[in-house]
Amino acid sequence: EPLRLGLTGGIGSGKSTVATMLAECGAAVIDSDAISRATTASGGVALPAIVATFGPQMLGADGALDRGAMRQLVFGDTSARHRLESIIHPLVSQEVDRQAKLATDSGKTCLVFDVPLLVESGARWRGKLDRVLVIDCPAETQIERVMARSGIGTEEVQRIIDAQASREARLSAADIVIYNGAGVSLPALRESVQSLLPSLGL
Ligand code: ATP
Repeated sequence: EPLRLGLTGGIGSGKSTVATMLAECGAAVIDSDAISRATTASGGVALPAIVATFGPQMLGADGALDRGAMRQLVFGDTSARHRLESIIHPLVSQEVDRQAKLATDSGKTCLVFDVPLLVESGARWRGKLDRVLVIDCPAETQIERVMARSGIGTEEVQRIIDAQASREARLSAADIVIYNGAGVSLPALRESVQSLLPSLGL
C-alpha cells in the first residue's frame, strides 16, 4: 500500500509548488480542488442533484453551475450550504478514491492529496490520510506572493487569510512541516522536499 500524504497550507503558501516537486520525484498528486470544480463544470456529475434540489436557475447559459447564483443562495443559509455540500462531497470523495486506486494500481508508492482546506474540513479527510504535510508561511509572505501572482489587493488577501484556518491550527494538525517563508529560495524549498523523500516512500 502506498503512503497517503495530505498536503495543505494557506493561500500562497507554496502548496502547488511543493506538489509539483513531489510529482517530479514520482508521487501521484490528487488535486481535490480541481476534482471539486469538475463536479460543477458543464456536464459535471453534481449538476443533476443540484438542479433537482435548488432548481434549474442554478445553471448558467454555459450549462455549468452559476457560482454567483449559488453563492447568493447559500450565503447566510446554513441549511442550503449543508445540502449543497452533501451533494458535492460524496462525489468528490468517490473521484478522489478512484484516482487513488488508479495510482496505486500503477505502482505509485506515495499518493499526495492536495487539499487546500484540509484543516478546515475536520474529520472528512483524515480517514484517507496516513500523514499531513503543512507548508508553513507567515501572512506577510502569503500577501506578497498572492499580490504578485494575481494583482488583488492586500486587504482582500488578508480577508481570505482570516477566513482560512489559523497558522497555529494548521501547525498543530501537521505531522510534517516545510517552512516556506520569504527567505526560502526555490532551490532551498526543493532541498527541504528532497530531504523528506525517504520517509515518504519516494
Ligand atoms: P494557492 O492556495 O493560492 O493556490 P499555493 O499554496 O498553491 O497557493 P503556490 O501557487 O505554490 O501556492 O505559490 C504561490 C506563488 O508563490 C507562486 O507564484 C509560486 O511560484 C511562488 N512561490 C512559492 N514558493 C516560493 C519560493 N520559495 N520562492 C519563490 N517563489 C515562491
